[in-house]
Amino acid sequence: AKSAGGNRFELADPEADARAITRHGLTTALPTALERGEFFIEYQPLVHLGDGSVRGAEALVRWLHPQHGVLGPDRFIPLAEHTGLIVPLGRWVLEQSVRQAREWRELHGGPEEMGPLRINVNLSPCQLTHPGLVQDTVDILERTGVEPDALCLEVTESALIGADDDLLKPLRRLAEMGVDIALDDFGTGYSNLANLRRLPVSILKLDRSFTQSMQQFPADPVDLKIVEGIVSLAHSLDLAVTVEGVETGAQAEQLRVLGCDTAQGWYYARPGPPERLHELALVDATG
Ligand code: C2E
Ligand code: CA
Ligand code: CA
Ligand code: CA
Repeated sequence: AKSAGGNRFELADPEADARAITRHGLTTALPTALERGEFFIEYQPLVHLGDGSVRGAEALVRWLHPQHGVLGPDRFIPLAEHTGLIVPLGRWVLEQSVRQAREWRELHGGPEEMGPLRINVNLSPCQLTHPGLVQDTVDILERTGVEPDALCLEVTESALIGADDDLLKPLRRLAEMGVDIALDDFGTGYSNLANLRRLPVSILKLDRSFTQSMQQFPADPVDLKIVEGIVSLAHSLDLAVTVEGVETGAQAEQLRVLGCDTAQGWYYARPGPPERLHELALVDATG
């Protein structure tokens, strides 16, 4: 932010400067961060709305930066996407998460009818266009001995808007293998609902903004209608509906009544270390 005469950006913005410096610093530190093992993953439970049981978890990456402390993904995922580091980072997250899922299975087992705890992993659009995606995923599943149907890959709705067949091909291959594909942040993009049929997805993750509008009581009737409509459309297309950002019991109840299948949010648990998820699942299984 220069203040030289004639410059239209004459307002000094020290915060913007600081942000730019940090951004630059973070960008240059990213590649070594992966080598140095500064990333770690927190897991947030996915809970069945009907019976309250823990069915799995979403993997959420964090960076323990030596100077800045723990950084959330919003701080560095865009930088990693910009620099291309997202491909090795995403592969690392996938491998760690799938290994974790296997460990839970060994520790927990769980009632047969419930199946193993499932693991949801976020995919960046850059990973979607990377030619190694399918093979990397197959390799990781084979190395760890985890069944494809224990894995769900989350892709944002916006990444798939207007997607052509080339982009969908790897997702189709993964879906054919039994990997679930979830459409993340659903309802935030300009989705063409009819388009859903074309996508190899089996789960809709309703964006937090819908959950937020269930906060008030009574909830906005228009929002209720929208969620009701999305749920019935999803179910008629054989898609399960997961809701994110559930912070209160009232929201959970409202969303359950509206027919949503699975929920995630602070009401159940914040993202945390893998031991925590194992504890929650155990408590759950033993009553
Ligand atoms: P997301 O996939 O929509 O993940 C849900 C976000 O909502 C997480 O933020 C989670 O901590 C937060 N959250 C969960 N429950 C609640 C709640 O009850 N209330 C509120 N207010 N927030 C809640 P987080 O961990 O900061 O992650 C932000 C985003 O970063 C994720 O959004 C996802 O898009 C991205 N991300 C996280 N991990 C990865 C990764 O391994 N790879 C890629 N490509 N993206 C990732
Ligand atoms: Ca997600
Ligand atoms: Ca989401
Ligand atoms: Ca999001």
